[in-house]
Amino acid sequence: MAVEVRQMKWWGWGEEGTGFDISNKPDLWPFIRSAAGLEEEPEPSPPVSMEEVQLPEQKTHEAFVSAVSSTLEAGQLRQDREERLVHAYGKSFRDLWRARTGISDAAPDYVIYPNSEADVAAVIKAAVTHDVVVIPYGGGSNIAGCLEAKGNGGRTVISLDMKRMDRVLEIDEEAHIARIQCGTLGPGMEQQLNGKGFTLGHFPDSFVYSTVGGWVATRSAGMQSDKYGKIEDMVLSLRMVTPSGTIVTRTVPKSSNGIDVNHLCIGSEGILGVITEVTLQVHRLPERREIYGFLFPDFESGIKAIRECVARECMPMMVRFNDHEKTALSAAFKSKPTPLEALVSKAVKAYLVRVKGFDLSKSCIMLSGFEGDAKTFRYTRRKVTGIYKQHGAFSLGAGVGKTFEKSKYDFPHLRDYLMDRRIMADVSETSTLWSNILPLYHAAMDAIAQATRDTGQKAFVSCHISHNYHSGASLYFTFGCVQLPGRELEQYLYIKKAAEDAFMKNGGTLSHHHAVGTEHLPWIEEDISPAGVKAVQALKDGLDPNAIMNPGKIVPSPKAPYDWGLGEEAIARFAGHRQEDERPAKSTA
Ligand code: FAD
Repeated sequence: MAVEVRQMKWWGWGEEGTGFDISNKPDLWPFIRSAAGLEEEPEPSPPVSMEEVQLPEQKTHEAFVSAVSSTLEAGQLRQDREERLVHAYGKSFRDLWRARTGISDAAPDYVIYPNSEADVAAVIKAAVTHDVVVIPYGGGSNIAGCLEAKGNGGRTVISLDMKRMDRVLEIDEEAHIARIQCGTLGPGMEQQLNGKGFTLGHFPDSFVYSTVGGWVATRSAGMQSDKYGKIEDMVLSLRMVTPSGTIVTRTVPKSSNGIDVNHLCIGSEGILGVITEVTLQVHRLPERREIYGFLFPDFESGIKAIRECVARECMPMMVRFNDHEKTALSAAFKSKPTPLEALVSKAVKAYLVRVKGFDLSKSCIMLSGFEGDAKTFRYTRRKVTGIYKQHGAFSLGAGVGKTFEKSKYDFPHLRDYLMDRRIMADVSETSTLWSNILPLYHAAMDAIAQATRDTGQKAFVSCHISHNYHSGASLYFTFGCVQLPGRELEQYLYIKKAAEDAFMKNGGTLSHHHAVGTEHLPWIEEDISPAGVKAVQALKDGLDPNAIMNPGKIVPSPKAPYDWGLGEEAIARFAGHRQEDERPAKSTA
């Protein structure tokens, strides 16, 4: 049965008609203007109209279309302009900037919506026969260039949009597991699970517009990972259709059956095959759930507090700890206070400074969520609050958490609002060991700020910690600045390169949960070693000998050469602003 799927705007976040509402955030635009050093209101820079986008000419393929037409129903194969454009990009700054300015140097030639695994298998079979490239497409929310259909040796490209396969097929209420189709979007999945009293506990910031298959294919992390783990911790078994057959693993709690095939498929970013369904660990819905705010005197004290909670094995289900810069940005999001709220806030500030000795120019906000049955909830909250207080925290109560819950999925719309005003904003994230958290934090903050200054702009750089482990945590950097007219992409890539170089130099990884795609390709060899790259390549060659599956992602591909987009000359020009001994390393193109 045909199901119409929800798509995001081709040029931005969310469905058509959604956007960022700044009307009740009186402090936000003044904060952004000051952070970016904008003296005057910028000229508006709206996206071009769809008609103005120059799509690459469609590479039609009659024989392929004829081969799949006996399997597919009307409406499953699309080739109209809008479908091709919607599926051309993900949502990285590079993707959005090109879409908004009408540059579409890559787009699939056809979009296919499979209804079943049989449809997927038929498409892959025809694609192998006719040497057609297939790019699995979930929600299209990735920010690592995972969907780029560029440089495929002139071959026809299919975007395989999985969103019609959107059902929770089965729940085992004894084992607490659910078998779920991979095109299911976050809200639809939770709705089906909640109906039976369960939750997956996986809530990435992109939850509304990302799919189960996309999460598994990118090794995604949700905001409640401190309790539920990353998506790779939740997978018991899966099915993945590859050009060499369908991989099927058994639904058992654990196994010792050689190299873990589940984990060969998890994180494969569509380069090996199409994951059609996964069986995931689910959990009973908690009786009680609440998020609280705490203010720490500085970044260091909060980090120590989280580490102690981890070491004493009493973690909240969610921890999101902002450095001071991110704290200031979050504070600018607050709605206009009532006169009473303004008075209380003034009194609290005075108390913090005079009585508690806080220096408010360094203080950092921590959001911590607790859930469980009433007893577990109270016990964990009390124990965690005790640890936080030993590290100097001041409890802000549940109001901050309620505001966060209400607007947590609105934040991604902010980037479109900024791009409308010629401001670049993006993120880079990594993870490292506890001993290395602060050194890496300072190195990356400095590197991003320096690179932004090299481009002649004032830098806004901030960081939060949000996924914690016994060994360490992830660091998530948000940065932005005024765009450099005519050199917007070079400027962005130069700053992005500085962030990734800093991660590599300082004991981090190229990404904690945003995948490799093409954006992080220059750092893959350094991250997993040349032999590691060979292992991934051998796996790809074995399962996909004709390199039809999303080539050029995770590992470089001779069949899909990709230019990262930043040459020596651009680096030299930007770095020319700096002293000799501070110049950055050579190109990664
Ligand atoms: P897509 O973007 O459609 O695809 C991503 C990759 O997975 C592609 O390589 C694609 O080929 C492959 N793929 C998709 N489906 C399948 C399948 N069924 N079989 C095989 N391969 C497949 N990520 C997080 O982890 N945590 C966050 O909190 C988070 N927040 C974000 C906030 C914003 C504003 C944005 C823009 C992104 C965020 N992301 C986050 C990144 C992104 O949402 C994740 O990478 C997500 O897992 C991608 O899922 P998707 O369904 O959109 O996949």
